[in-house]
Amino acid sequence: MSELIVGIDLGTTNSEVAAFVGGEVRVLGPGERKILPSVVGISPSGELLVGESARNQHRVYPERTVRSIKRRMGTAEKVDLGDKQFSPSEISSLILRELVEWAHKSLGQRPEKAVITVPAYFSDAQRNATREAGALAGLDVVRILNEPTAASLAYGYGEGKRHTAMVYDLGGGTFDVSIVTMEGDITEVLASHGNNHLGGDDFDDLLAGRLAQEFEQRHGVFVTKYPSAKARLWWAAEEAKKRLSFEPYVKIREEALVMDGGKPLHLEVEISREEYEQMIQPLVETTFDSVSKALRDSGKSPGDLDAILLVGGSTRTPLVSSLLRRHCDLEPRQDVHPDLCVALGAGVMASRLSGQHVDRVLVDVSPYSFGVAYLGDRGGFPYPHCYKPIVQRNTPLPLTRTERFYTTHPEQTTVEVRVFQGEDEDALKNVPVGDFRISGLAESKGEDLNEVLCRMRLDLDGILEVTAIEKQTGKSKQITIAKALEAKSEKEIAEARSRLQEIYGSRMEEDEEGLWDIEQVATEEVSPERAPSLPSDLAGEADQLLSKARTLLGSMHPDDREETIDLIERITNAMREGDVEEYKSAAHSLSELIFFVGGKE
Ligand code: AMP
Repeated sequence: MSELIVGIDLGTTNSEVAAFVGGEVRVLGPGERKILPSVVGISPSGELLVGESARNQHRVYPERTVRSIKRRMGTAEKVDLGDKQFSPSEISSLILRELVEWAHKSLGQRPEKAVITVPAYFSDAQRNATREAGALAGLDVVRILNEPTAASLAYGYGEGKRHTAMVYDLGGGTFDVSIVTMEGDITEVLASHGNNHLGGDDFDDLLAGRLAQEFEQRHGVFVTKYPSAKARLWWAAEEAKKRLSFEPYVKIREEALVMDGGKPLHLEVEISREEYEQMIQPLVETTFDSVSKALRDSGKSPGDLDAILLVGGSTRTPLVSSLLRRHCDLEPRQDVHPDLCVALGAGVMASRLSGQHVDRVLVDVSPYSFGVAYLGDRGGFPYPHCYKPIVQRNTPLPLTRTERFYTTHPEQTTVEVRVFQGEDEDALKNVPVGDFRISGLAESKGEDLNEVLCRMRLDLDGILEVTAIEKQTGKSKQITIAKALEAKSEKEIAEARSRLQEIYGSRMEEDEEGLWDIEQVATEEVSPERAPSLPSDLAGEADQLLSKARTLLGSMHPDDREETIDLIERITNAMREGDVEEYKSAAHSLSELIFFVGGKE
């Protein structure tokens, strides 16, 4: 049996541990939770708190709790927790101990050796302090690894000839870009730049500002005067921001955001991705100053790059990839989960050092792009088989993506949805995988055309669900395609294509469903508002819990608020998916948090 070495991302806000298990590198942790908040505290009764519980305690006893210790590593500062004093390395060692415990419980074996990541710009003193933290946690730190190098390893970069990559890391509050070269096992960080005060939080602020402005115009009331309303607005903005990464528009509704002389004032706004992108574009563009500096310092130009590797939650924003693509004329890679990327890369290095051969981490991604045909323009003529990809190849699974389409004339009440696998802009050159028709749509008024949204959901089992939704009424129709990720044989492709030709030869006289005789294709009418599928007692309990949490948001410490928002999101997702296990786990954490912040009855 080879020796156990774990890989650790010891982050400013969150930390994770990864190791080689069952033939692949995995992030380890109790149940669904794989991310440990980098917070340490001592409760009034003297109990040591690390992670979520420490984070929950922070609002009540800030003098007994410490966050962001990474920023103080390598300094002689002391941290007071209650009546005790700690060095930054000692605090970090407590976080490492917790991660060791997570690994121990997941693997049944206590790790004694670790690879720990640090930012490329960390000085020797900061690196030594990190080593010391490892030693205090009982770990032999066999390697200190630069974060951009870890990201490159997670992406499986640098096999064979020498490669140059840009690692673009945009998180919640910080931005870092590094130019790295990799050849075999040797990785060199040529240059790094960044901004310690730029990230997704700034996008939230912009969107929240836009919501406040809308509210003021509608009701003549400044939300910013009401702390609780302000917090709810911020929560709504972050939630909307995340959805805008995958949907063309979001409707934001906050009931009774402000009570004005006993009268509830609601917020109701619709924001399109275009509008949101215009808002954040100047901020995203500032990152290109750092990109240019890093390229210049490394003596490289965009043309020298073999890859752009995306790291950090905010890189899920489509504008980030599209501006990078335009700036560097290269498709950025996002096939490894951006939040776990650094830990996974540390896990790859740890596995190699323990004698396991791991080239890259295995993440389930869609090996194909999926999209639909539409009537567009080709060579100046209308062409009914233009192709719009909705799911991009190499996107991690499971996923949901939505795109917006329009009817072609106001009287049109039927829309044909033809689903293809492939990337050619001519749909007929791609592989047809399913087809359905949604009819009975409302005629649109005047010149306005009717909007039809096409949503694709693809899960780990390769089941592709395609739904067409009339935006105005919510009327929808769905097709489910099993085995969407399996390669089709030449014969199957040829048959599907020839059926397509036949149908388009005879101009669509067929019935509405199952046009393609592909295994297990089924269509199903779905009602506009599909009820969440949690059992009704849990759904009632969930509503109560959510409403309590939202009421408390305004008076919470920002850290607790962030945690609460995450939990609310997990609960609403679990309700939407009918995932009882996930609901129970998130609801338990939220109840505990509410208890801690003083929301007990
Ligand atoms: P990190 O520091 O890498 O954990 O990134 C956290 C940031 O990523 C926060 O600002 C999140 O709001 C943001 N984020 C997470 N998911 C998404 C998403 N789907 N689209 C845009 N931003 C996201």
